[in-house]
Amino acid sequence: MTLDLLVFAPHRDDAELHCGGLLIKMAQKGYAVGVVDLTLGEMATRGTVEGRAREAAQAAAILGLAARDNLEIPDTRVDSTEENQLKVIRAIRTYRPRLVLLPYETARHPDHRQTSLLIQEAAFLSGLPKIDTGQDAHRPQRLVFYFTLYNYRGITPSFIVDITAQYERKMEAVRTYGSQFYNPASTEPETFISRPEFLVLIDTYSRYFGSLIGVERGEPFFVREYLELDDPVAQFGDQGKARAYLP
Ligand SMILES: [Zn+2]
Repeated sequence: MTLDLLVFAPHRDDAELHCGGLLIKMAQKGYAVGVVDLTLGEMATRGTVEGRAREAAQAAAILGLAARDNLEIPDTRVDSTEENQLKVIRAIRTYRPRLVLLPYETARHPDHRQTSLLIQEAAFLSGLPKIDTGQDAHRPQRLVFYFTLYNYRGITPSFIVDITAQYERKMEAVRTYGSQFYNPASTEPETFISRPEFLVLIDTYSRYFGSLIGVERGEPFFVREYLELDDPVAQFGDQGKARAYLP
């Protein structure tokens, strides 16, 4: 199976939270979309590995994923070691994605920062045929960064995707993680993301990024390269796309 777009996520729930709207939208357009989670989440304060697996499978169906995999890297130990790089390289060569999505480098959780570095290095190495995994070499065409746990401070996104039509479904996928997010029936210790305020944050940020492009809900992304624009007249002269212009 080859994928158009593959997300690498440190933990089950990161893909849903940070780029769930984009995944749903791309699947709706007919692209093959997949998620590779790096860890089983065994160090999470709340929930169990088995419970989290069930939640992830449910969320995958809601997102419309063609594939969901797990590299079983030890939680909190997502370092860019040769062993971990080879796990990622094998996944890239298996799914041969055109685009890879990964966390932006700055983040609150060390696993998120480490995932960013690990995926950047492995995505490059995956293109070297002499790194032998018994598979053909493959390097994705582009790395697209998503922002984790709302660490946007001082970073200007390269582009924002309108997810207004996908937002309810995205939140449905997020809510399948009943072990992680606000659940009044839970007796487990409270965490940053299990407080009701966290769900308000998701709502606020999606509206904020939507407002920057003149729509109700948006998800921000970052690419290192400049974006080439072939036809500025079509892009900016189209009334539908001109809505974000604020004189
Ligand atoms: Zn995470």
